[in-house]
Amino acid sequence: MYTHIIVHYDEITLKGGNRPFFERVLVDNIREFLKDIKYDNFYKEGGKIILNINKNTDLEKIKKTLKNIPGISNFNFAVLEEKNLEKINKKTVELLKNYLKTENEKNLRQTQDDRKNEIKTFKIEARRADKKFALKSPEINAKVGEYVIENMKLKVDVHSPDLDVIIDIGYKQCYIYFEKTIGIGGLPVGTTGNLISLISGGIDSPVASFMMNKRGAKNIFVHFKNKTIAGQNDGQDKIEKLVKQLCKFQGKSKLYVIAFEKFQKKIIVNIPSKNRMIVYRRIMFKIAGEIAKKEKAKGFVTGDSLSQVASQTIDNISAIYNIAKLPIFPPLIGMNKQEIINIAEKIDTYNISILPYQDCCSFLIAIHPETRANLEEILKQENNIKIDRMINDVILNNKPTIIEL
Ligand code: ATP
Ligand code: MG
Repeated sequence: MYTHIIVHYDEITLKGGNRPFFERVLVDNIREFLKDIKYDNFYKEGGKIILNINKNTDLEKIKKTLKNIPGISNFNFAVLEEKNLEKINKKTVELLKNYLKTENEKNLRQTQDDRKNEIKTFKIEARRADKKFALKSPEINAKVGEYVIENMKLKVDVHSPDLDVIIDIGYKQCYIYFEKTIGIGGLPVGTTGNLISLISGGIDSPVASFMMNKRGAKNIFVHFKNKTIAGQNDGQDKIEKLVKQLCKFQGKSKLYVIAFEKFQKKIIVNIPSKNRMIVYRRIMFKIAGEIAKKEKAKGFVTGDSLSQVASQTIDNISAIYNIAKLPIFPPLIGMNKQEIINIAEKIDTYNISILPYQDCCSFLIAIHPETRANLEEILKQENNIKIDRMINDVILNNKPTIIEL
């Protein structure tokens, strides 16, 4: 029944002179994400992106895909009609009848508890991009509304209707639609820059990466692995699975896996146990800084949440972040664990994150780790570990794995 999908975008509309750039990136992203889906074409029309679909279009698949593209605030399945009131009336009733029938059938397949309330009321909401159209919006609302009442057993409720029917009068044609699917909103990936995302395999860091996707950033993933404790290949599978899941939001992704055992050995010899976690994490940022140079990334992403674990007290976070030469973005810093878990479940990373895996940070961890780091003391202790050459070698020989959905 549907011939078009109307894609509405979010904050792009606020971007003033940069708007064409943001729109272009969103269009490119949509094209890339839909490359395995059959549709006719798409075009931009008056602040919307419109996809022309056909009978071979897999509606469920396209819906799932568009729901995950940052920058899209919502979209509707629609039909096209000429800008002629009589035709609009007829098409609206035909579409409504069809819709109610499918909804009823869907409901019959549901259990009593999952059944939706029957649709009894509606409201027509006309939008007019074409201000030259003969009828003004309130007149369209009244006329189409009247026709629907005459031809169907529905009542008007302008305050809280069961169904909002949109009559969207564009410059060339008119679109009719009602079912709105909410997207993730925010900004298109690729509009704000590349970030190095430190991904650990836990629950938090994948959520942090997703949050930065919503703000238009693309993550280049770095994972530090101690193969002595994680096993040669164990765990890497898990990290790759997580990154694959995150490709749903940012497309094709790069993952650097850095052998961390050599660095940890040096740290264990030179740094007292209570400070080791802090130094592990400082060294991670030092190495990630070299990858940032190579990748022309402008900052780092971590899954830190204030005081969730010992390494995340204010003093420890400042001692750790102090080593970084680029800004660090910890989008979960003020979130509670349960709030983070809720997002992890929504973006389908939670079930992967809870698979067993020995993170390198758990290696020889102190029973009483420092919670009030003293940076001067740490800097003195770090003087004894000479790792610049090791870092150079690791970076030179490391090729990222490319992961796709
Ligand atoms: P997560 O659930 O993301 O593992 P966490 O609550 O377990 O976080 P930590 O283990 O202290 O906290 O790690 C804090 C952050 O440091 C992580 O979110 C991640 O960004 C980074 N990090 C920790 N371990 C690694 C690792 N092995 N490789 C890459 N980044 C890591
Ligand atoms: Mg962790």
